[in-house]
Amino acid sequence: KLSRRLQTIAGLVPQHSRVADIGSDHGLLPVYLLQTGRSDFAVAGELNEGPLQAAVRQIEAAGLTGRIAARRGNGLAVVEPGEVDCVTIAGMGGALMAAILSEGMAAGKLEGVTTLVLQPNVGEDLVRRWLLQQGWYLAAERLVEEDGKWYEVLLAVRIADAEACSTMLYNPTFLPLDRDEEEKRRLLLHMGPWLLRQPSNVLRRKWQSEADKLRKICARMGRSDSAEAAEKQREMEREIETIEEVL
Ligand code: SAM
Repeated sequence: KLSRRLQTIAGLVPQHSRVADIGSDHGLLPVYLLQTGRSDFAVAGELNEGPLQAAVRQIEAAGLTGRIAARRGNGLAVVEPGEVDCVTIAGMGGALMAAILSEGMAAGKLEGVTTLVLQPNVGEDLVRRWLLQQGWYLAAERLVEEDGKWYEVLLAVRIADAEACSTMLYNPTFLPLDRDEEEKRRLLLHMGPWLLRQPSNVLRRKWQSEADKLRKICARMGRSDSAEAAEKQREMEREIETIEEVL
């Protein structure tokens, strides 16, 4: 059975999409998309030979060889401009994801792509910032809890008035916090503007766990003579306070 994380990603892919899954590894996501009829054609892109072969085997075992093309290459190099209308990237860091999207965009590989479904493992704020700067509208966010970990899934779409919609989405005034606008914007990018609009128990658990981690680090640091360490500690304490206030 497909993990909840991958099911959530699949659930945000529009019906009848032509999908490129970049960094597909085992190829489980494109296979599921074809099997459930959500997608009619997919490219499974992989940088490395081992994972690519795993995807090839998975696709063969599912009898989908003609409908999922497993291709080896860096990021979006595996697709032709206009070949797909949805790109999924999951299970890698946000910085790498943003770099893949930037390179792909420069090479025209995002032409005809109307939907991005992105699941960064870390650096979610970098992905939100990239989307904002490149004129993509963050249309939905999901937070999945699985095996004691939390995964954020971001759905971005290309719409005509993306800039105006994003300005509303990231409007800092809806956060009832005694912080300046810049700090509120940072929090929206860090924690997710949709997730923060309707704080769920899952969201609370995720950020409580983050706050606990920071508390442990602070406690381990103990009293420090170095001004630099003391400043770091103060910063973490401020972050803990902010998390508690937001939730
Ligand atoms: N997407 C799958 C998932 O979410 O379950 C697999 C995630 S796996 C942790 C990350 C995969 O991305 C690896 O198989 C790795 O080889 C691949 N990868 C890393 N950098 C890449 C790049 N620049 N282009 C394509 N694939 C890449």
